[in-house]
Amino acid sequence: MPELPEVTALAERIEERLLGATFTAAVPLSFSGLKTVVPAPDSLIGTHLGGVGRRGKFLLLSADSLTLAIHLSQGGRIDFEERSRPTRARGAVARFSFDRPPALLLKEFGTERKAGWWVLAEGDPGPLAKLGPEPFSEEFGTLVLEGTDPGRIHALLRDQRRVAGIGRGYSDDILHRAKLSPFRSLTSLSPEERARLLDAVRSVLQEGLEAERHIRSGGTPAKMGDHWIVHGRSGTSCPVCGDDLRRVSYESHEVTYCPTCQPGGRSLADRRLSRLVK
Ligand SMILES: [Zn+2]
Repeated sequence: MPELPEVTALAERIEERLLGATFTAAVPLSFSGLKTVVPAPDSLIGTHLGGVGRRGKFLLLSADSLTLAIHLSQGGRIDFEERSRPTRARGAVARFSFDRPPALLLKEFGTERKAGWWVLAEGDPGPLAKLGPEPFSEEFGTLVLEGTDPGRIHALLRDQRRVAGIGRGYSDDILHRAKLSPFRSLTSLSPEERARLLDAVRSVLQEGLEAERHIRSGGTPAKMGDHWIVHGRSGTSCPVCGDDLRRVSYESHEVTYCPTCQPGGRSLADRRLSRLVK
């Protein structure tokens, strides 16, 4: 679940501690975590960490001509290890060590083994090639203000090929801020609603980033998203109007929204659920 704000703030914390450090080891600790074969992980040894950044939900460590890309997916986390630990931690995916602490342990907190890492040669975009524009880019602004996407806005925001860095958590908060039902489509929006949506995307992500910078140090904790406004809070009161927040569950995710602040276009599934609840 780490999204743009979490990954950006994590990149900043890693850079603050390790900029200029020399890689001394890059050790795969699970079978499926490493997604590339060439260059070999050992080719990172001896390279210098020249910067840490983010693209979409990928954490990017630049190591001379190589790039180490890490995707935390749902349950992936990074631990800062201040002392060397020879033991294989539970859920460990990989460990990256440098000529000074901390070592970075990539681990999988959940049961789904999806966190991954890539060692990319110069000029190889690897998995980044499939990513759409960043939320703060002009290209994404044009997509929101002029796009003709007929699908639901919630799905559009989560689709990394159309905009990179947003997941289910911030999508819920963005649509609540924009006062738009998650079941509406971009094409159904008035120009004013489109402008509101774009503004909500950027302000919610910016505030999320500021919160992440403020509340965390070191790696990423098991439980994140503690500053979300509506996501994961169904059944509690909407902080704006006091109505009960509702949720609609899908196979892979759930959508939380306020029926009063975000009226219109409630899904069939939701209506069926409300009827059962009555
Ligand atoms: Zn409300």
